[in-house]
Amino acid sequence: MQHAPASGTPVVSDVIVVGRGANGCAAALGLAQAGLRVTLVGPESPPEPADWDPRIYALSPASRALLERLRVWPALDASRMAAIQRMRVFPDSRPDAPELGFSAHEAGVPALAWVLEGRQLTRALHQAVGFSGLTLRTAQVLQARASPQAAEVELDDGTCLRAKLLVAADGAGSPVRAMLGMPVSERAYPQRAVVANFACARGHADEAWQWFGDHGVLALLPLPGERCSIVWSAPEPLADELLSLSTEGFALRVAEAAQGVLGALCPLGPARAFPLRLVRAERLVAPRALLLGDAAHAVHPLAGQGLNLGFGDVAELLSVIAGREPFRDLGDHLLLRRYERARREPVLAMAFATDGLQRLFDASSAASLPAALQPLRALRETGWRMVAGTPWLRRRLIRHAVS
Ligand SMILES: Cc1cc2nc3c(=O)[nH]c(=O)nc-3n(C[C@H](O)[C@H](O)[C@H](O)COP(=O)(O)OP(=O)(O)OC[C@H]3O[C@@H](n4cnc5c(N)ncnc54)[C@H](O)[C@@H]3O)c2cc1C
Repeated sequence: MQHAPASGTPVVSDVIVVGRGANGCAAALGLAQAGLRVTLVGPESPPEPADWDPRIYALSPASRALLERLRVWPALDASRMAAIQRMRVFPDSRPDAPELGFSAHEAGVPALAWVLEGRQLTRALHQAVGFSGLTLRTAQVLQARASPQAAEVELDDGTCLRAKLLVAADGAGSPVRAMLGMPVSERAYPQRAVVANFACARGHADEAWQWFGDHGVLALLPLPGERCSIVWSAPEPLADELLSLSTEGFALRVAEAAQGVLGALCPLGPARAFPLRLVRAERLVAPRALLLGDAAHAVHPLAGQGLNLGFGDVAELLSVIAGREPFRDLGDHLLLRRYERARREPVLAMAFATDGLQRLFDASSAASLPAALQPLRALRETGWRMVAGTPWLRRRLIRHAVS
């Protein structure tokens, strides 16, 4: 890793990547491994949590393949990772609610997903970035400009960077997207995601559980040993109530909402909460610039697919760059359009599916469903039973989730 000198004249590279989150690091790493001169910009990461990080990711087989290709996967501590072999989803918490089950065996994959802590992933990515030969700048972007001639950013340490291509991976609120004047549609969900880890009295047998209902969406994911992690996308008033409980009181509420499937729960640390919103940039590309990860699209976490979608962007970008004709410049608009076209369908499909499910099951969103769609709510249990009882349909859904 080189540290670029601060100066008034622009520091030139092939690609500037803004954002040191998982997507920015993965993109910068892949581009550097492809032999390009890359500058990665972002502030220092926040301090790591003391023990089990309550921010966890369920990474799909496709995300694992990307991390293997970037040589990051082997650096992850396998003893702190759990594989999901089976997923059990319920439309509500009645005992006779029809279960929608998916298994890795049915999908023909070694696991439906791997659950790991956010800090583990960030640490492994940062280590790999350190050895990749790219230039790392610990700074914030204050200004960004992109034109058919060049892309430029100004940093808060006074440095100006110039490149053929600017990649904005600076999160859902993307300041770079705004600086480039790229339009975005955005809607806040009336829910907050409450996350926490627990030791559980009963083993999870590598199963993940999820309940939809008036309580929002509760997902219970396996962690190594007799531990589990939850993501509870709770309506705002319920989120406030959950966060006001003692850690023990909260554990009791979770165990109850999870119908005791893992027995009594013992908290492994305090809960954390995240606001939820749907964000979709209208265009993914501008002259010599592109959006990637949450800067391009942020979806509801009910399917645990936000980062997987971002890693899909990274894989596509690397493939488009690797496959470019020798005469084509990195910022060539045709090249960027190839990226945009390839990502349109998977992004739209995921945003539509997660948003649709959220609205269909969220009591507070019922009123916001267009009148023409109101009968869908009545049909939801029928539809659910149909999917649950139709093996080919279930297989299609699994294929979509793991690809
Ligand atoms: C509760 C919850 C559970 C989730 N679970 C899953 C899951 O199981 N699986 C999954 O695939 N996804 C999941 N997601 C989604 C996932 O967390 C996000 O999609 C992912 O973290 C986005 O990563 P990113 O790198 O695009 O953005 P971020 O992680 O937001 O990183 C953006 C970076 O840009 C930097 N930045 C911002 N502004 C500037 C600036 N001006 N200059 C320089 N740098 C800047 C920030 O400091 C930050 O480091 C979940 C999300 C939530 C809320």
